[in-house]
Amino acid sequence: PIDAAFVRRWLDTAATVVEREAAALTELDSPIGDADHGTNMRRGFVAARTAVEQEPPDTPGAVLVAVGRQLISTVGGASGPLYGTLLRRAGKQLGDEPAVSAAQFRDALRAGVDGVAQLGGAAPGDKTMLDALFPAVDAMSKALDGGSGTADALAAAAAAADEGAVATTPLRARKGRASYLGERSIGHQDPGATSAALLVTAFADTAR
Ligand code: ADP
Ligand code: MG
Ligand code: MG
Repeated sequence: PIDAAFVRRWLDTAATVVEREAAALTELDSPIGDADHGTNMRRGFVAARTAVEQEPPDTPGAVLVAVGRQLISTVGGASGPLYGTLLRRAGKQLGDEPAVSAAQFRDALRAGVDGVAQLGGAAPGDKTMLDALFPAVDAMSKALDGGSGTADALAAAAAAADEGAVATTPLRARKGRASYLGERSIGHQDPGATSAALLVTAFADTAR
């Protein structure tokens, strides 16, 4: 079962990974963006970790909502409201249950990812964070349907997210700043898909 402590451990892992990878994320955002994605994500996750440490919520849904709220108010770039919506929607869907199953968690993530698509208007293949997030949720579903446990299902999600992020390289961006470059966005991995894969991998690492 996934409880508040699990999501708080995820937050710690995610914040640490974002810190470690911030320079690389900003580097990816320089040829096809404004070179701030790592800085944005670091600012958001530092704020989220601090807020959750100061007042630890006691349900998994409430932790996700708290992180989402911090990302919306501190990240600044397009990724803030998008990730914020993802986590808030997912958290709200979990309600105030003290612990949820992997299937409930998967359903909540799916609701969150659908919220990102609604807010940003992007479709699969548009070279955005959704190109990591959609495959992650699909892979998690498939694994759970096939009888996998939480850890294996999250590992499958992480592998699919990574693959999805790498597969953004040959795509032409149709949303966000990178879309201003048209054809010239081709040949670069999307920073948001890359950070999405890091966040999903942090879930898998938390469950191991
Ligand atoms: P900004 O572009 O405002 O500087 P960031 O650099 O923090 O924001 O984030 C850029 C990332 O946000 C992109 O790499 C992309 O994955 C994601 N993104 C941008 N616009 C959208 C959108 N409409 N839908 C989904 N993801 C988007
Ligand atoms: Mg940027
Ligand atoms: Mg920016």
